[in-house]
Amino acid sequence: MVTGIGLFSGGLDSILAIKVLQEQDINIIAVTFVTPFFGSEKAEKASAYLDIDHRIIDITEIHLKMLQNPKHGYGKQLNPCIDCHAMMFRQAGKIMEQEGADFLFSGEVLGERPMSQNKKSLKLVSEESGYADVIIRPLSAKLLPETQPERDGKVDREQLLSISGRSRKPQIKLAKRFGITDYDQPAGGCLLTDKEYIRRLKELKDHNLIVKPRDAHLLNVGRHFRLADGNKIIVGRDQADNENIMEMANDSDVIMRVRDYPSPVTLIPYGGTINDINTAASICVRYSDAPGGEEVLVRYKNGGKTEEIEASAYPDERLEKIRI
Ligand code: SF4
Repeated sequence: MVTGIGLFSGGLDSILAIKVLQEQDINIIAVTFVTPFFGSEKAEKASAYLDIDHRIIDITEIHLKMLQNPKHGYGKQLNPCIDCHAMMFRQAGKIMEQEGADFLFSGEVLGERPMSQNKKSLKLVSEESGYADVIIRPLSAKLLPETQPERDGKVDREQLLSISGRSRKPQIKLAKRFGITDYDQPAGGCLLTDKEYIRRLKELKDHNLIVKPRDAHLLNVGRHFRLADGNKIIVGRDQADNENIMEMANDSDVIMRVRDYPSPVTLIPYGGTINDINTAASICVRYSDAPGGEEVLVRYKNGGKTEEIEASAYPDERLEKIRI
């Protein structure tokens, strides 16, 4: 049986690419790559109703390394789309070799994204991946050069499509034909195109030459403040933030909450001085339900030891000066 390994985001284009190939009785292994910048939620939801072998693979380490200095630069924001896609195909290519599969594919549509999905970019991505002649884009294949699996008769080029451009009409029509009604809107989802996230990421890069995976995850959680000594304070904005911060915290951090009133979880990643702890406690009180102007007890954990400190709310005008 012919097997194709597909990059699978769970968006409509990637679902349709699978459907088009399944019409040729091709066996599908769909791969979703995750990093702190994009996850697998959409793909997990979509794979539940597709008859596929779905694999989720974390490429955080190599993606962060690439992000430091992408060979083909960034898109409009901090999105290194050419290098990112090439990396994904390269990783998928390794799975193809391990599985003895026949080709790679994606739901990319020629011209859908002017910068990263024009003919030149698609060719560049294919070449950079090292698997140029076995990458098929089923939705636009007839507008692109023939590939080895098509020449070998493993994939029937006649049954592939010639969709191009930014209009979604052909995809919506195709979705109807396949009876697909439950799909997400395209684009979005990558934090490397999110201005707020990028601002924080750039600020972090200015302080830490190497961005660690946990730091990249923390950037998407809570309010962030930078202290004069370079240390950082992160304060949860809601229950979900508090839970996420708790989950990511470890023994190298200082983590605190107001003892007797509801308050956000407040974190000093990798710990801090006693001055930092005092400031973090005041900020924690500022966002708590403690009565204004009162000194209250803040309980914190530092290097496995639990202690308490008195603090009153940090003044708003000073807070704005250290907000990232
Ligand atoms: S938008 Fe994000 S996930 Fe998509 S190719 Fe670009 S960098 Fe990669």
